[in-house]
Amino acid sequence: MSLRFDALSRITANNEVINVAGSTKITSIFGENVFTMKTAREYLSDEAYKSLVTSIKGGKKIDRTVANQIANGIRAWAESKGVSHFTHWFQPLTGSTAEKHDSFFTIKSDGTAIEEFDGAALIQQEPDASSFPSGGLRATFEARGYTAWDPSSPAFIMEIGLGKTLCIPTIFVSYTGESLDYKAPLLKALEALNKTAVDVCNYFDKNVAKVTATLGWEQEYFVIDESLANARPDLVQCGRTVFGAAPAKGQQLEDHYFGSIPERTYAFMRDFEQESYKLGIPLRTRHNEVAPGQFECAPIFEDVSIAVDHNTLLMDIMDRVARRHKLRVLLHEKPFAGINGNGKHNNWSMATDTGVNLLAPGKTPKTNLMFLTFFVNTIKAVHDYSDLLRASIASAGNDHRLGANEAPPAIISVFVGQYLSKVLNDIETRVGDKFDEQDEASLKLDLHKSIPELLLDNTDRNRTSPFAFTGNKFEFRAVGSAANCANAMTVLNTILAETLRNFKTEVDGMIEKGDKKEVAIMQVIQRYIVESKKVLFEGDGYSAEWQKEAEKRGLPNVKTTPLALDAMITKKAKSLFEKNGVYNHSELEARHEIELEKYIKKVQIEARLMGDLAINHIIPAAIGYQNILLKNIRGLKEAGLADAAYSSQVKLLKEISEHINVIYDKVNAMVEARKVTNNIEDSRKKAIAYCEKVKEVYFDEIRYHVDKLEMLVDDQLWTLPKYRELLFLK
Ligand code: ADP
Ligand code: MG
Repeated sequence: MSLRFDALSRITANNEVINVAGSTKITSIFGENVFTMKTAREYLSDEAYKSLVTSIKGGKKIDRTVANQIANGIRAWAESKGVSHFTHWFQPLTGSTAEKHDSFFTIKSDGTAIEEFDGAALIQQEPDASSFPSGGLRATFEARGYTAWDPSSPAFIMEIGLGKTLCIPTIFVSYTGESLDYKAPLLKALEALNKTAVDVCNYFDKNVAKVTATLGWEQEYFVIDESLANARPDLVQCGRTVFGAAPAKGQQLEDHYFGSIPERTYAFMRDFEQESYKLGIPLRTRHNEVAPGQFECAPIFEDVSIAVDHNTLLMDIMDRVARRHKLRVLLHEKPFAGINGNGKHNNWSMATDTGVNLLAPGKTPKTNLMFLTFFVNTIKAVHDYSDLLRASIASAGNDHRLGANEAPPAIISVFVGQYLSKVLNDIETRVGDKFDEQDEASLKLDLHKSIPELLLDNTDRNRTSPFAFTGNKFEFRAVGSAANCANAMTVLNTILAETLRNFKTEVDGMIEKGDKKEVAIMQVIQRYIVESKKVLFEGDGYSAEWQKEAEKRGLPNVKTTPLALDAMITKKAKSLFEKNGVYNHSELEARHEIELEKYIKKVQIEARLMGDLAINHIIPAAIGYQNILLKNIRGLKEAGLADAAYSSQVKLLKEISEHINVIYDKVNAMVEARKVTNNIEDSRKKAIAYCEKVKEVYFDEIRYHVDKLEMLVDDQLWTLPKYRELLFLK
C-alpha cells in the first residue's frame, strides 16, 4: 500500500481531537515563563535590578560583579520552575532560531558537584559557529563567532515536552564585531531611528526623549494532516508542493473565510496560544483565511525588537505544537499552486515615550503637523529606497507571491487612502511655489479640518497595496510568511532614520536663514510630496494596467530574488547603512552572499525533488496504468471486439505516453542545466542561472505534464496525496 492510502486510512484514527486543558483566563498564565521586570524585582538585589533597568533603557554596559548577581537571580527563578539547562538563544541567518543547551551542573576543581550559572555564562558564549552562514565573514576575519546577551529582550523558559530550558536572548557576532544574525543590525537600526526621530519630534514637543518603532505582525499559515504531509516528500523537504492538480473545489466559493474553524485545528490553535501566552506573546486574533486550510493569527503590537523575537518564537512553537496534534503547519509563502499564498503583514508605526503614536493624526493643528511630518517622511523614505525594501523581502519562497499570479506585486508603492490623498494634493497644489506664514495659518486650519481625528474608520481598505496606510500605522504587506521580520524592519527603520535626518538638516537650514519653524517644516514637506509622488498609488495593485503605469512612472518592478538582492550592495545602500551605523560594507556584502546562497540551495533542492518525484513516483504510476490499459485492450481484442470498442483506451495510452516522454526528457535536460549552473563560481551569476536556466525553463513545464497525468491516471495508482485531500481532510 502506498503511503497515500495508508495516510488516508489512518486519517480517521488520527482525527482524534487532543484538547489541552486551557486556562480560561489568559492573564493568569501570561508571561509566567518570562523573566519580566516584575520577576527581576523579586529575584534581584536593588543594585542588580537598577543596573538591569539602566542597561535596558540606555543600553549601558553591565559590569561583571553585577552580571554574576543577575545570573544568580535568573538561575534561582529558573530552578524554581524546574529548569536544569540553559541556552543562548539567537536568530542566525538561516532563518530559524538556534540554541545550544548547557547544563547548570558543573564540577568544581575540588570535585564537588554544584549547579552554577555565572555572569560570564550569561554574557557570552561560543556556539559552534562554523555551521551557520557567514557569507565569508568569518573566513576573512576570524574563524569564531560568539553570542552576547541582549538585556533588552527578557530571558524566558522554553518548555518542550517535559524538558524546560532557560533561554537567554542574544545577538551573534564575529570576534571582529561583524554581525552574523538578524538581531544585531535590527537593534542598531532602531537606535538610529530613535536618535533622528527624537530630534524631529523636538520641533513639536521638547519633552520627547525616546521614540520606539512598533510592530504588529499577522502570521498566515496552512494546517494539514501529518500522515498526508509525510506522504508528500516535497512538503517534507521543501515546505511546498511542487506538483498537484487543482482540486474541483478550491477557494472559489470563498466559504472558508467565514466558516468555523475545524475542531482539530481549533484544539491546535488553543494549544499553541497557551504556550505563547506563557512566553508573553500577546496573541489576540485567530481566524480562517481565504484558502481552505489556511489561517492567521496576530498579536497586539509591541516594540519592534520584542515583536521580532516573539514572531520567531511563535513560528517555532507552532511547528512543535502542530506535531503534538498530528498536524503540520506550513509557513511557506506558496505551499499550493493556484491557492492563496501565505504572507506576513508587518503593521508598523512609531511611539514616543510621551505616549504619542507618531502616525496617528492628532487633535490639534500642531499635533497634526507632527503627524504629517512623520507620514510624509515615511512616504519619502519608501520612495527613495523602494529597491531596498524590495530586497528586504526577497526569497525563493516569496518569489511565488510577488509579481507572480498573486500579489502584492513586486512594485513597491504606497497607498494612503482618499482623505490623505486629498490632503497631500492640497498641500502640493494649493500652496503654490512659495509657502508663507499666511499660507501656514490657513493651512493649519484646513489640515485640522481635512484630517479627521479618527482616520481609522475612514481609510478605505485597499488590499492590493504592498505598503498601505491603515489609519494609524503603515502596513508592509509584501513580507513573506516564513521570513524573519527583522530583515524588513531593519531596512524600514534605517531608511526612515536617514530621511528624518535629512529632513531636520533642511528645516534647520531654513530656520537659520530666518524662516519660521512651521513654515520651514511645511515647505520641506511640500517638496517631499512632490519628489515622492510617483510612489503613491491608490488603484488595483494586482492589475496589468498598474504594471504598465508603474513602468511609465519609472518604478522598479524586480520579479526575482537574485536581481532584487542587487539593491543591497549599491553605493547608495552601502553609504546609507554605514552612515546609520547598521551595516559596514563587508557585512552588507556578506549578507548579499548569504541571501544568494539561500536562494541557490532552495531552488536546487526543489529541482532535485522534482526529478526524484517525477522519475520515482509519477512515471511508475503512469506506466502502471498503461499496463492496465494494455491488458484491457488485449482482452477486448481477444474477445473479438472491433477497434472502436477500445479506441478510448488507445487514445489514453498515447496521451499518457506523450506526457511521460516530455517529463522524462525535461527532467534529464534539467539535470544537465543544473550541472552547467553548478559550475558557475560567482554566486550572483549562479543564482540568476538557477532562476532563469533551471527554474523558469523547467519547473512549470514539468509540472504541467505531471498535473495532466494526475488527472488521467487511475486514482488507486497515484501515490502522492492530492490537493483535495491535503486541503480538505482533517
Ligand atoms: P486588521 O488589519 O486585520 O484590520 P488591525 O488594524 O486592528 O487589524 O490591526 C492589525 C495589526 O496591526 C495587529 O497586529 C495590531 O497589533 C497592529 N497594530 C495596531 N496598531 C499598531 C501600531 N501603532 N503599531 C504597530 N502595529 C499596530
Ligand atoms: Mg492586515
